[in-house]
Amino acid sequence: MTEIDIAALDEVDTLASCRDLFDLPTQTIYLNGNSLGPLCHASAEAMQRVVSEEWGQDLISSWNKHRWIDFPLRVGARIAPLLGAAPEQVLCCDSVSVNLFKLLSAALALSKAQKPTILSHRDNFPTDLYIAEGLRDLLQQHGAQAELKLVATNALEAAIAEGPAVLMLTHVDFRTGRKLDMAKLTRLAHQHGVLVIWDLSHSAGVIDLALDDCQVDFAVGCGYKFLNGGPGAPAFVYVASRHLQQIKQPLQGWMGHKAPFAFNPDYEADLGINQLQTGTPSVLAMSALDAALSCFEGVSPADLNRKASALSETFLSLVEAEPALAELRLVSPRNPEIRGAQLSFSHDQAYPISQALIAAGVIVDFRAPNLLRLGFSPLYLSFADIAASVSILNRIIVNNIYKDQQFSQRKRVT
Ligand SMILES: *Cc1c(COP(=O)(O)O)cnc(C)c1O
Repeated sequence: MTEIDIAALDEVDTLASCRDLFDLPTQTIYLNGNSLGPLCHASAEAMQRVVSEEWGQDLISSWNKHRWIDFPLRVGARIAPLLGAAPEQVLCCDSVSVNLFKLLSAALALSKAQKPTILSHRDNFPTDLYIAEGLRDLLQQHGAQAELKLVATNALEAAIAEGPAVLMLTHVDFRTGRKLDMAKLTRLAHQHGVLVIWDLSHSAGVIDLALDDCQVDFAVGCGYKFLNGGPGAPAFVYVASRHLQQIKQPLQGWMGHKAPFAFNPDYEADLGINQLQTGTPSVLAMSALDAALSCFEGVSPADLNRKASALSETFLSLVEAEPALAELRLVSPRNPEIRGAQLSFSHDQAYPISQALIAAGVIVDFRAPNLLRLGFSPLYLSFADIAASVSILNRIIVNNIYKDQQFSQRKRVT
């Protein structure tokens, strides 16, 4: 692929102008939007306004005047189109971990299965598994025969056929970027009477999702990764409208009550998706996420998906053309149809290579034990960025730059 080919890809890129919406540092190629999305101008401005005008001047009246009270529903409705979901099924609140606890409990209570068994894959993101273990232990302490069954991803279909109560899956694997077949697995689960919860943390904002069409039961996802909501941005939760009348979630706080300002001692869940709320929404954090979602206006998930695949395909073909880069072993699927907006390579020196890349302005991350991980956000990356990052990677390997002592110091957050 020549420089001219790369320039031609940028020339026809319909999302190219979205880059101007972001406040990226100069001399930086950000291949880490899968871990923490960058700051956009709209979020910076919203934070300023909410702090100095709304909180600063309007004080408590802002709950009504600036509709802080509706934030979880309004932001949820803004995320919904990115999920292929009708808006009244999505709410923005809490973290993915906390929301999983609510959904797992609600799904187990809703299930008609004999035993409260949760099925998941062993390579799922650890917090998802920790939450399921915690819920299992809690149920067991109270005498239920709860079980958490973990299988290899390729053994999922056989395990689904055994009819657990709930299937909890992460759509895109955080290590390898492998994408599961949402339509197929959801259909199979339903054939066996199994309710499904999808974790879309690495999917929302880069994959053309179709939760309603796939008849997904429940989903959660992250606000600070490809949605660019800022560090620790609140997460989102989806409940299919057909379940909203029947569910009961255990973290029933006043914000999920039908009439929180009636201060009634008895809990009465709100009717719609708002019943998934617990405590007071995190207004500052949510205002950054709300503004970041403006970057997706007028952009179709299909276009995001297409460009994310083209970026990673371009990266791969450039890597494959460099003999020195053959020592990086691709652990992501080679077929872009079954991978998210991410590539991972294994290398026994992956950590120092990641540090040398960061020092050279190519921001990537490392995942234990030996993975170099790169995320391909379609909103602010150009094909020229991709070509430049492969050439820097090649220089680091060919010239053994990563062997410099300074790149081996392990930091707390990798
Ligand atoms: C990032 C991520 C999370 C994060 O969970 P929080 O509780 O919001 O910190 C959860 N699950 C998956 C699959 C993730 O990738």
